[in-house]
Amino acid sequence: MLVGGGCMVTEVVGRFAPSPTGALHLGNARTFLIAWLRCRSQGGRMLMRMEDLDHPRVKPETVGQVYEDLRWLGLDWDEPVDESGNLAAYVQSERLEYYRQAFNELKGKGLLYPCRCSRKDIEESQSAPHERGTGRLTAEEQKELYYPGFCREKSIEQPDNPADCSDEKAPAWRFRVDPGTTRFDDVFCGVCESDVSVWSGDFVVARNLSAPSYQLAVVVDDAAMGVTEVVRADDLLLSTHRQLKLYKSLVLNPPAFLHVPLVVGTDGRRLAKRHGDTRISEIRRCGTSPESVIGWLAYTCGWCEFGAQISAKELIRQFRLDTISIEPYVVGASDLRLLGLAG
Ligand code: GLU
Repeated sequence: MLVGGGCMVTEVVGRFAPSPTGALHLGNARTFLIAWLRCRSQGGRMLMRMEDLDHPRVKPETVGQVYEDLRWLGLDWDEPVDESGNLAAYVQSERLEYYRQAFNELKGKGLLYPCRCSRKDIEESQSAPHERGTGRLTAEEQKELYYPGFCREKSIEQPDNPADCSDEKAPAWRFRVDPGTTRFDDVFCGVCESDVSVWSGDFVVARNLSAPSYQLAVVVDDAAMGVTEVVRADDLLLSTHRQLKLYKSLVLNPPAFLHVPLVVGTDGRRLAKRHGDTRISEIRRCGTSPESVIGWLAYTCGWCEFGAQISAKELIRQFRLDTISIEPYVVGASDLRLLGLAG
């Protein structure tokens, strides 16, 4: 892509970052389609990163299924490739050394402290937002669990590095959040501004053992991989403010962000098992074609008529953001019928 006066060439780098906590469903597929089209329509390079650090929730058997579903939908990626030239993924559980380096850098700057508070301790301590000096939290901010900083100034004896902690009582490590707003201009949502210290407080960057949190790993990886634009669902909008704090402290350049609305059920809640089986694998099993699924996803984004059949590749030239509603897409019975899932 040519930028500015036409002499500087900036490569667009996008990424898929699935978590293998369940099979791909229609909601994930929509976000991935938008991410892929956004990247491909700019001639960009697409990377694949498997985010398998969320141990209790990770289901290793879903890893292969996610790749297979994406390929079936016609959503490919460029990197990495294995020794045999097959498409593979950057896998977070194989990248712990990078997170450890970042952890040590933050710790060396005095920005981390160990915390042994349980979730229960924190839940029981929740004060009303106005007691924290603000009455102006958004509905989303109010849903977050606020950490009041119990362990901030406490000195507790413990190992220096979470990788050395092998007992269950090993501390988590929190990042000190100073008051003040972070601000970014989301490509889809516009200007977003928030003060992490008010609704989140100090957040966890590493759990016990050698487990960096999602917040730390995603920042380290997106920076290391040269991702220029992160496209993901808008349930992570608030996390972006946390991540921007880490980018700043690690002296890394943040990418651009583009957060898109979720797909929800008729009850307004994010698509899940309770809404029936909307997994791509189930849709395939029902004999529905990839073109029908892509056509329906394109319909939800305002690019095609209901019932259209089209390939992901064919959509590249039709891709635009301004037809996508800022409201979540509500999946109803006619959608499920079209996809062969009901009736
Ligand atoms: N792995 C995360 C998820 O599946 C996405 C993280 C991201 O895109 O930053 O929810």
